[in-house]
This record gives sequence, structure tokens and C-alpha cells, in this order.
Amino acid sequence: MDDCLFCKIVAKKIPARIIYEDDDAVAFEDINPQAPTHTLIVPRHHIAGLKGLSREDGALVGRLAVVASVLAHKKGLESFRTVVNTGPGAGQTVFHLHLHLLGGRPMGWPPG
Ligand code: 5GP
Ligand code: ZN
Repeated sequence: MDDCLFCKIVAKKIPARIIYEDDDAVAFEDINPQAPTHTLIVPRHHIAGLKGLSREDGALVGRLAVVASVLAHKKGLESFRTVVNTGPGAGQTVFHLHLHLLGGRPMGWPPG
């Protein structure tokens, strides 16, 4: 999608610290980290968010979780949190599906 920030990062039209990529997913460091590890994992092709997913999207969304697991292991994270904000009321600001991988500090519950 032409005017999507994360599509531009995936296409390397704007720079980001990309730490992982495969045919389905790309992972890069968040520009405004909320924890010592704050990585964003996105599907290579544009999906706006978790809202409106269809059954065929299941494998791809599952891939994002697998990438989170692999990266958490690589980073030596014993505990970590994965977050998907859906809709502006939940804090979604970029409407290209992304899974936040946060770790390296204690995490409170409930989240804000
Ligand atoms: P959301 O608020 O949609 O759940 O998450 C969007 C995330 O994208 C935020 O954590 C924000 O810091 C990050 N972000 C916004 N713009 C950029 C950018 O240009 N580059 C990178 N690497 N991260 C960004
Ligand atoms: Zn996009």
C-alpha cells in the first residue's frame, strides 16, 4: 500500500533497523522503544490489523508469533510480552498489522 509506513519499511523505501526477514514477515526495532527490547513483527504484505481477518490469514498471523518466539530466544528473553493494539481506542497508530515484542524489564498487569 502506497501510503503505509510499514509497507515502506518492508520495501526498504524508508530506513529501519531490520533484524529479521523471511518470505512472510519482517521484524525491525521500534523507533520509540518502551522496553530494552521493543521489536515490531509485521507481515510482508499489507493487512490493516487483527480486525477483519479472515480464515486464510490464520497461518500468516501464526507466523508472526513464531517469529516472536525465535527472536525472544535469540535475545535471551526469559519472559516477554507480545501485544497487538487493535483500533485507535487501544492505541493502534499504524494500520499495518504488527506484533510488538517487548522484554528486558518487569511488565505490570493489567496493561494501561
Ligand atoms: P501501534 O501504536 O500502532 O500499536 O504501534 C506503532 C509502533 O510503531 C509504535 O510503537 C511506534 O513507536 C512505532 N513507529 C512509528 N513510526 C515508526 C517508524 O518510522 N519506524 C519504526 N521503526 N517504528 C515506528
Ligand atoms: Zn502496509
